[in-house]
Amino acid sequence: MTQRTPAELPRDGFDTIPIYRTGAAVEVNLADNTNLWGTPPHAAAALRAGLDVAEYPDLYGQSLKETVAAQAGIAPSCVVTGNGSDDILDCAIRAFAAQGDTIAHPDPTFVMLPVFGRINGVTPVAVPLTASHTMDVDALLATGARIIYLCQPNNPTGTSTPAADIRRVIAEAPGLVILDEAYVEFSGDPGLIAEAPSLGRVVVARTLSKAYGLAGLRVGYGVASPEITATIERSRGPYKLNALAERAAVAAMTLDHDWVVARAAEAVVNRDRVAAELATRGLVALPSATNFLCVPTARAVEYAEAARARGIGIRAFASLPGIGGALRITAGPWAMMERLLAAMDTVR
Ligand code: PMP
Repeated sequence: MTQRTPAELPRDGFDTIPIYRTGAAVEVNLADNTNLWGTPPHAAAALRAGLDVAEYPDLYGQSLKETVAAQAGIAPSCVVTGNGSDDILDCAIRAFAAQGDTIAHPDPTFVMLPVFGRINGVTPVAVPLTASHTMDVDALLATGARIIYLCQPNNPTGTSTPAADIRRVIAEAPGLVILDEAYVEFSGDPGLIAEAPSLGRVVVARTLSKAYGLAGLRVGYGVASPEITATIERSRGPYKLNALAERAAVAAMTLDHDWVVARAAEAVVNRDRVAAELATRGLVALPSATNFLCVPTARAVEYAEAARARGIGIRAFASLPGIGGALRITAGPWAMMERLLAAMDTVR
């Protein structure tokens, strides 16, 4: 029997799947859209209170399911938990599309989405945003894809698509709709988790990595009908949510709720304030419904390098489809925004 060489061992074509990388560590990270006020106080206390991890965590994160369910006014069986919302997206794609099927997504959107498709053998179909940078719902529906991914509000543009358009995709899609609400807490819109269980073909993905300040713990969840959540749990498998993460997540969603809401409001105020400051420098951001700004500029790489030289990380996109060069900047405490503006001013 001939043996494969080590280079021949992986699945065919798997070596073309990109590995996600971010820039080197910086003092002030405005590149990942996290909560720049830090870890919520009660979640931090919950972590310090007990490091008893000799036993396995709950199989499917029952206490987090119950917390989400109580707040959304739905049944715990309508919630699936995961190791970040990345895990929800990955597991949903694997469960609802077979190798060779397609997943349609807006372009640009969350960079990992097409990668999660390809990892699972599912072909991503990129659908350009409209001229006003909203999702082109007619074109997404016209793909007839097995899964349609929607990101509301969208990363990296920060833009929001009319709610009626989102509802129309859910009503008319031939297969599953994944509605990614990673930034919903900054949008002024309650999102669709309360309704998702009765809408039939949708799973709404949420994360505790952004407004909730727990990116390091990796917690996300999905809300859908019990049939859909059970299907996603088949591909998820047990023990994905570790015990510390589950405890801190429940504390963040309950005891820290007001703190989280107040910080999200502050992020929105500072986002608009920094947008106005950038505009006086000729850097005009797209309208944002998130905790970040997308700023089209042909000199994106230059600005990001200038920020890095001053210990600040911002995300530079050399060329976004339909937009061109752009910066993505997370809104945080005003002192951080002042440092950013001073760094921007070094670019002449
Ligand atoms: N969806 C969107 C739109 C995101 O921007 C991110 C994080 N960058 C995620 C999902 C994944 O978040 P996490 O896995 O940390 O929950």
